[in-house]
Amino acid sequence: MLNKGDFHIHSNASDGKYNPTEIIILSKINQIDVISIADHNTTAGISEAVEAGRNYGVSVVPAVELSTKFNCESVHLLGYFKNNLYQHDTFQEILKLIKSHRFKKVRKILKNHIDLELKEGKLSVLEGINLLRCFGASVVLAHPMRISNKNIEQVLSLPFDGIEAKYSNTDFNTSLYFINLALSKFSFYTAGSDFHSIKNKNSKHSFIGTVYLNNSEIKYFLKSLELCC
Ligand SMILES: [Zn+2]
Ligand SMILES: [Zn+2]
Repeated sequence: MLNKGDFHIHSNASDGKYNPTEIIILSKINQIDVISIADHNTTAGISEAVEAGRNYGVSVVPAVELSTKFNCESVHLLGYFKNNLYQHDTFQEILKLIKSHRFKKVRKILKNHIDLELKEGKLSVLEGINLLRCFGASVVLAHPMRISNKNIEQVLSLPFDGIEAKYSNTDFNTSLYFINLALSKFSFYTAGSDFHSIKNKNSKHSFIGTVYLNNSEIKYFLKSLELCC
Protein backbone atom coordinates (compact mmCIF):
# COMPACT_ATOMS: atom_id res chain seq x y z
CA MET A 1 0.00 0.00 0.00
CA LEU A 2 1.30 3.43 -0.94
CA ASN A 3 0.57 5.80 1.94
CA LYS A 4 2.92 8.70 1.30
CA GLY A 5 4.26 10.06 -1.98
CA ASP A 6 6.66 12.92 -2.67
CA PHE A 7 6.79 13.59 -6.42
CA HIS A 8 9.42 16.31 -6.71
CA ILE A 9 12.93 15.43 -5.50
CA HIS A 10 16.31 16.43 -6.94
CA SER A 11 19.32 14.11 -7.04
CA ASN A 12 22.95 14.85 -7.81
CA ALA A 13 22.13 14.16 -11.47
CA SER A 14 21.14 17.86 -11.38
CA ASP A 15 21.62 20.23 -8.44
CA GLY A 16 20.68 17.94 -5.53
CA LYS A 17 23.25 16.82 -2.99
CA TYR A 18 22.46 13.09 -2.79
CA ASN A 19 22.69 10.30 -5.30
CA PRO A 20 19.51 8.42 -6.23
CA THR A 21 20.29 5.48 -3.90
CA GLU A 22 20.77 7.83 -0.94
CA ILE A 23 17.45 9.49 -1.79
CA ILE A 24 15.71 6.11 -1.80
CA ILE A 25 17.23 5.34 1.63
CA LEU A 26 16.18 8.76 2.98
CA SER A 27 12.67 8.12 1.62
CA LYS A 28 12.52 4.69 3.25
CA ILE A 29 13.70 6.05 6.63
CA ASN A 30 11.00 8.70 6.44
CA GLN A 31 8.30 6.20 5.44
CA ILE A 32 7.76 7.60 1.97
CA ASP A 33 6.51 4.75 -0.24
CA VAL A 34 6.61 6.38 -3.66
CA ILE A 35 8.76 9.19 -5.05
CA SER A 36 9.75 10.93 -8.24
CA ILE A 37 13.27 12.03 -8.97
CA ALA A 38 12.49 15.16 -10.97
CA ASP A 39 15.86 16.60 -11.89
CA HIS A 40 16.33 19.77 -13.93
CA ASN A 41 16.39 18.88 -17.63
CA THR A 42 17.79 15.38 -17.07
CA THR A 43 16.51 11.88 -16.40
CA ALA A 44 20.00 10.52 -15.61
CA GLY A 45 19.12 9.65 -11.99
CA ILE A 46 16.03 7.59 -12.71
CA SER A 47 17.44 4.13 -13.48
CA GLU A 48 19.57 4.03 -10.31
CA ALA A 49 16.55 5.19 -8.27
CA VAL A 50 14.31 2.50 -9.78
CA GLU A 51 16.86 -0.20 -8.99
CA ALA A 52 17.52 1.02 -5.43
CA GLY A 53 13.77 1.42 -4.98
CA ARG A 54 13.29 -2.25 -5.80
CA ASN A 55 15.79 -3.22 -3.10
CA TYR A 56 14.33 -0.93 -0.44
CA GLY A 57 10.65 -1.17 -1.33
CA VAL A 58 10.17 2.40 -2.57
CA SER A 59 8.31 2.91 -5.86
CA VAL A 60 9.64 5.40 -8.38
CA VAL A 61 7.60 7.30 -10.97
CA PRO A 62 10.01 8.56 -13.69
CA ALA A 63 9.96 12.34 -13.98
CA VAL A 64 11.81 15.42 -15.16
CA GLU A 65 11.62 19.13 -14.29
CA LEU A 66 11.82 21.08 -17.52
CA SER A 67 12.92 24.73 -17.66
CA THR A 68 10.69 26.96 -19.78
CA LYS A 69 9.73 30.62 -19.86
CA PHE A 70 6.58 32.66 -19.96
CA ASN A 71 7.13 36.26 -21.03
CA CYS A 72 10.52 36.71 -19.34
CA GLU A 73 9.69 34.66 -16.25
CA SER A 74 11.20 31.24 -15.65
CA VAL A 75 8.49 28.54 -15.34
CA HIS A 76 9.17 24.92 -14.41
CA LEU A 77 7.18 21.99 -15.76
CA LEU A 78 7.09 18.52 -14.23
CA GLY A 79 6.71 15.66 -16.70
CA TYR A 80 5.61 12.28 -15.28
CA PHE A 81 6.18 9.30 -17.53
CA LYS A 82 3.88 6.30 -17.64
CA ASN A 83 6.35 4.35 -19.78
CA ASN A 84 9.99 4.40 -20.88
CA LEU A 85 9.62 6.91 -23.71
CA TYR A 86 11.81 9.34 -21.75
CA GLN A 87 14.72 7.07 -22.69
CA HIS A 88 14.13 7.79 -26.38
CA ASP A 89 17.32 9.01 -28.08
CA THR A 90 15.63 12.14 -29.44
CA PHE A 91 14.27 13.16 -26.03
CA GLN A 92 17.66 12.55 -24.41
CA GLU A 93 19.37 14.60 -27.10
CA ILE A 94 16.89 17.46 -26.59
CA LEU A 95 17.47 17.44 -22.82
CA LYS A 96 21.22 17.49 -23.32
CA LEU A 97 20.91 20.49 -25.65
CA ILE A 98 18.56 22.32 -23.26
CA LYS A 99 21.07 21.78 -20.44
CA SER A 100 23.81 23.33 -22.53
CA HIS A 101 21.51 26.16 -23.73
CA ARG A 102 21.84 25.20 -27.38
CA PHE A 103 18.32 26.30 -28.20
CA LYS A 104 18.87 26.79 -31.91
CA LYS A 105 19.59 23.09 -32.27
CA VAL A 106 16.73 22.19 -29.90
CA ARG A 107 14.31 24.09 -32.13
CA LYS A 108 15.69 22.44 -35.25
CA ILE A 109 14.94 18.98 -33.82
CA LEU A 110 11.67 20.00 -32.21
CA LYS A 111 10.13 21.39 -35.37
CA ASN A 112 9.82 17.82 -36.65
CA HIS A 113 7.78 16.84 -33.60
CA ILE A 114 5.73 19.78 -32.32
CA ASP A 115 4.44 23.21 -33.34
CA LEU A 116 6.89 25.89 -32.26
CA GLU A 117 5.60 29.08 -30.70
CA LEU A 118 8.80 31.12 -30.43
CA LYS A 119 11.64 31.61 -32.86
CA GLU A 120 14.57 31.44 -30.49
CA GLY A 121 15.80 31.01 -26.92
CA LYS A 122 14.42 28.94 -24.06
CA LEU A 123 11.28 26.91 -24.74
CA SER A 124 7.95 28.56 -24.04
CA VAL A 125 5.65 26.88 -21.52
CA LEU A 126 3.40 25.63 -24.32
CA GLU A 127 6.37 24.24 -26.26
CA GLY A 128 7.51 22.49 -23.06
CA ILE A 129 4.06 20.99 -22.50
CA ASN A 130 3.94 19.69 -26.08
CA LEU A 131 7.49 18.33 -25.92
CA LEU A 132 6.83 16.37 -22.72
CA ARG A 133 3.52 15.07 -24.04
CA CYS A 134 5.13 14.02 -27.29
CA PHE A 135 7.32 11.65 -25.25
CA GLY A 136 4.51 10.16 -23.20
CA ALA A 137 4.49 12.41 -20.13
CA SER A 138 1.62 13.90 -18.21
CA VAL A 139 2.49 17.53 -17.58
CA VAL A 140 2.20 19.32 -14.26
CA LEU A 141 2.83 22.99 -13.54
CA ALA A 142 5.53 23.00 -10.84
CA HIS A 143 5.15 25.27 -7.76
CA PRO A 144 2.45 27.62 -9.19
CA MET A 145 2.62 29.62 -5.93
CA ARG A 146 6.08 30.85 -6.99
CA ILE A 147 4.85 32.34 -10.27
CA SER A 148 4.33 36.12 -10.36
CA ASN A 149 0.83 37.61 -10.13
CA LYS A 150 1.49 39.20 -13.48
CA ASN A 151 1.73 35.87 -15.31
CA ILE A 152 -0.03 33.23 -13.22
CA GLU A 153 -3.48 33.62 -14.74
CA GLN A 154 -2.22 33.25 -18.30
CA VAL A 155 0.07 30.35 -17.36
CA LEU A 156 -2.86 28.55 -15.74
CA SER A 157 -4.85 28.92 -18.95
CA LEU A 158 -2.39 26.56 -20.70
CA PRO A 159 -3.28 22.88 -21.19
CA PHE A 160 -1.64 21.19 -18.18
CA ASP A 161 -2.74 17.78 -16.94
CA GLY A 162 -2.26 18.84 -13.35
CA ILE A 163 -0.65 21.28 -10.94
CA GLU A 164 1.69 20.89 -7.99
CA ALA A 165 -0.84 22.09 -5.41
CA LYS A 166 1.06 20.86 -2.36
CA TYR A 167 4.52 22.36 -2.18
CA SER A 168 7.08 23.05 0.51
CA ASN A 169 6.50 26.03 2.79
CA THR A 170 3.04 26.61 1.33
CA ASP A 171 0.27 27.47 3.76
CA PHE A 172 -2.89 25.38 3.98
CA ASN A 173 -5.19 27.91 2.32
CA THR A 174 -2.89 28.35 -0.68
CA SER A 175 -2.61 24.58 -1.14
CA LEU A 176 -6.36 24.24 -0.84
CA TYR A 177 -6.84 26.95 -3.45
CA PHE A 178 -4.60 25.10 -5.92
CA ILE A 179 -6.17 21.70 -5.07
CA ASN A 180 -9.63 23.09 -5.90
CA LEU A 181 -8.28 24.68 -9.05
CA ALA A 182 -6.62 21.42 -10.10
CA LEU A 183 -9.79 19.43 -9.60
CA SER A 184 -12.03 21.92 -11.38
CA LYS A 185 -9.77 22.89 -14.28
CA PHE A 186 -7.24 20.06 -14.72
CA SER A 187 -7.17 16.32 -14.06
CA PHE A 188 -5.16 15.95 -10.85
CA TYR A 189 -2.73 17.58 -8.42
CA THR A 190 0.63 16.49 -7.01
CA ALA A 191 2.76 17.15 -3.95
CA GLY A 192 6.47 17.88 -3.94
CA SER A 193 9.06 18.91 -1.35
CA ASP A 194 11.53 20.00 -4.06
CA PHE A 195 14.15 18.41 -1.81
CA HIS A 196 17.74 19.31 -2.74
CA SER A 197 19.78 18.73 0.43
CA ILE A 198 19.44 18.43 4.18
CA LYS A 199 21.34 21.59 4.98
CA ASN A 200 19.29 23.76 2.74
CA LYS A 201 19.54 27.50 3.20
CA ASN A 202 17.06 28.02 0.41
CA SER A 203 13.73 28.28 2.21
CA LYS A 204 11.82 27.45 -0.99
CA HIS A 205 12.74 23.77 -0.66
CA SER A 206 12.17 21.33 2.17
CA PHE A 207 12.94 17.79 3.32
CA ILE A 208 11.71 14.63 1.58
CA GLY A 209 8.11 13.94 2.55
CA THR A 210 7.49 17.29 4.28
CA VAL A 211 4.58 17.57 1.89
CA TYR A 212 3.06 14.46 0.37
CA LEU A 213 0.08 12.88 -1.32
CA ASN A 214 -1.78 10.44 0.93
CA ASN A 215 -3.06 7.00 -0.02
CA SER A 216 -6.21 8.06 -1.87
CA GLU A 217 -4.48 11.03 -3.52
CA ILE A 218 -1.67 8.75 -4.76
CA LYS A 219 -4.22 6.31 -6.20
CA TYR A 220 -5.95 9.12 -8.05
CA PHE A 221 -2.66 10.53 -9.37
CA LEU A 222 -1.33 7.15 -10.54
CA LYS A 223 -4.67 6.33 -12.14
CA SER A 224 -4.51 9.62 -14.02
CA LEU A 225 -1.05 8.67 -15.25
CA GLU A 226 -2.47 5.30 -16.28
CA LEU A 227 -0.09 3.59 -13.84
CA CYS A 228 -1.69 0.99 -11.63
CA CYS A 229 -1.17 1.18 -7.88
ZN1 LIG B 1 11.41 24.24 -9.91
ZN1 LIG C 1 12.62 21.33 -8.42
